[in-house]
Amino acid sequence: MPSTHTQVPVGDLHCQHDTYCKEYSTQCISCSEKPDKKGFYQVKLIDTILFPEGGGQPADTGYINDTIKVYNVQRQKLEHIHYTKEPVDVGQVKLTLDWDRRFDHVQQHSGQHLLSAILEQAPYFLETVGWSMKEKTSYVELGTINKAPPTQAQLDEVEQKINDAILKAVPVICHTTSMNNNNNNNNITDDQDDSASRPDSLPADYVGAEGVIRTIEIEGLDKNPCCGTHISHLGHLQSVKLLHTETIRGGNTRLYFVFGQRVLTNLGELYDLSRQLTKSLSVAPHDFIDSVQRLQLQLRTQTKMVKKWQTQMAAYAVKDLQAQLAHNAFLALVYDEEGEGGMAYLNLLCGLIKEKDLLANDVNKAIILASGDRQQGGVMMVLAADDAYLKKVVAKVTSTLEGAKGGGARGRWSGKSPSFVGIEKLTTMTIE
Ligand SMILES: [Zn+2]
Repeated sequence: MPSTHTQVPVGDLHCQHDTYCKEYSTQCISCSEKPDKKGFYQVKLIDTILFPEGGGQPADTGYINDTIKVYNVQRQKLEHIHYTKEPVDVGQVKLTLDWDRRFDHVQQHSGQHLLSAILEQAPYFLETVGWSMKEKTSYVELGTINKAPPTQAQLDEVEQKINDAILKAVPVICHTTSMNNNNNNNNITDDQDDSASRPDSLPADYVGAEGVIRTIEIEGLDKNPCCGTHISHLGHLQSVKLLHTETIRGGNTRLYFVFGQRVLTNLGELYDLSRQLTKSLSVAPHDFIDSVQRLQLQLRTQTKMVKKWQTQMAAYAVKDLQAQLAHNAFLALVYDEEGEGGMAYLNLLCGLIKEKDLLANDVNKAIILASGDRQQGGVMMVLAADDAYLKKVVAKVTSTLEGAKGGGARGRWSGKSPSFVGIEKLTTMTIE
């Protein structure tokens, strides 16, 4: 039985008043009778400490009554829905928040407000037109269509300014105003400015008498309408690292960043990577680039040499094929026993065979090419001027080499064989 209680509207949720609340008691008002197509029950609670996705901040996850996992929380107009894979009984419930995930989101989101605020001000005047929080990094999109993107020197300066503000632990205050009248709400302070009018960033479906407009103020720096959960002072951002920029279609600039724990996680991962590379390349990190460039150059030179030798080898092999065809009326074989040439070598041979016209439209001749290890097998090709003859030869090949298979037509069959034991027998077989 659904209860008669109504929900606290999104905007006024407990998580939006107290970012740091990790456990909370509330009531379940209703739960869908059956799970939806994706297997989720839709649970309505009176209030919540799990933030419903919005304003670029992902939904929180957590638990109801310790064991029922909440996978997602979504806003529907002013209402909030919790998604679980088990039904929840109407009545008193205990909510627990996945705090590490939330605090990470809060650090990136509050950090984004601070980053955008500093970029927007003198001497940069770079407007943020969008932002996105990704799993490892986030970015702000700066409106640089008719404006130069920030220089590296400017970005270094911005990073320093942000870290200075973090050190000062500047307070972050949340102001709330009722959407219908501009009277100040419970924890609203003194702002009767234009932030009380409906902001452009408010979703179109966020309507209703109980709606709340929230403004996040970083004291002395910024005031911005936002539904997200935020830190209480900038000290909780720990630190910022601005990463790289990229120009996107249209000319805007994405500036990637990490705040808080992500700075440490990133540093840790990169440090481990650097240690592994030091071991693999046997050089110190400042020599990584030189070392890799040297290796690339070596590889290019050696690839060239291999190609040259392979071409020479192919030329000899084709001469040998010519001799074989002169002696053996119907079949010739090239077997690259070391098997390092692979399909690339067989294609090279194939090209030369065509160039020299070895099969010369002779309907009773075929050539078998193979590259691989005697025990482990490898790749194969059969060439013939006549398709009917090709079929017969392929039938012999697949019956002689157990497990050989492949496909093709118009004078060319390519395939694989799990072993080349007994491949020489093919040259002495008869084709009817
Ligand atoms: Zn925001």
